[in-house]
Amino acid sequence: MTDIKALVEGASLLGLELDQEKIDEFIKYKELLKEWNEKVNITTITDDFEIDIKHFIDSLTPLTTDYFKENIRVIDIGTGGGFPGLPLKIMNKSMDVTLVDSTKKKINFLKDVIESLGLEKVQAIHGRAEEMARDPLYREKFNIAISRAVAQLNTLCEYCLPFVEVGGYFISMKGSDIEDELKEAENSIKVLGGKLKETRIVKLPLSDITHSLIIIEKVRNTSTKYPRGGGKPRKKPL
Ligand code: SAH
Repeated sequence: MTDIKALVEGASLLGLELDQEKIDEFIKYKELLKEWNEKVNITTITDDFEIDIKHFIDSLTPLTTDYFKENIRVIDIGTGGGFPGLPLKIMNKSMDVTLVDSTKKKINFLKDVIESLGLEKVQAIHGRAEEMARDPLYREKFNIAISRAVAQLNTLCEYCLPFVEVGGYFISMKGSDIEDELKEAENSIKVLGGKLKETRIVKLPLSDITHSLIIIEKVRNTSTKYPRGGGKPRKKPL
């Protein structure tokens, strides 16, 4: 039996309710994660309790804000094993979620999860953020871009802000120590059409882990100069 107790208790402590359908979906997701992980490297976290807290619960913390309205379009950049995009989708089926990762085998895993759970309005796309963001199909087409554990904030802004429509938000999920990173990203946020809206500290239930949500509002269109090619967003952040 797959143990999911910590997820149910943790979600409740965050003020989120899991009905039986959602519990079953998370169990299936966890089973597939463990199964795939024996063959291909999806995540280093494999213990039941740790998957619940560090992957599932952490992914759900953005729902403690009021940015996730019904029927919005969300893109998760560098989603890896689907975090945070897939747990967010399981919680709010009205959202249209696009999961992006540059590693093909992770996308194959996500497609298996999406099909096994019978989820609709969620797509897993193999690609690099800085290339996809230049495609008119995706550029400035999302209410929210979200990302966890992918790059430094200055680089990440160039990957994520071009996807967000004016009036939407880029939500960066970070650790507890964000002061320096925020300072280094000041220019990048501004140049790409963003404005720091707020930072929120979140304590993960049933643990002593503290994380932050950095919320950046898109206030102007992003210049077509960005994102830059040739690895520049990472090698020479704005
Ligand atoms: N968000 C997940 C995975 C983090 S690991 C989590 O928090 O668990 C970082 C992931 O970002 C990797 O799977 C890597 O393949 C992907 N990645 C790194 N650079 C990328 C880029 N430029 N475009 C798309 N995906 C990228």
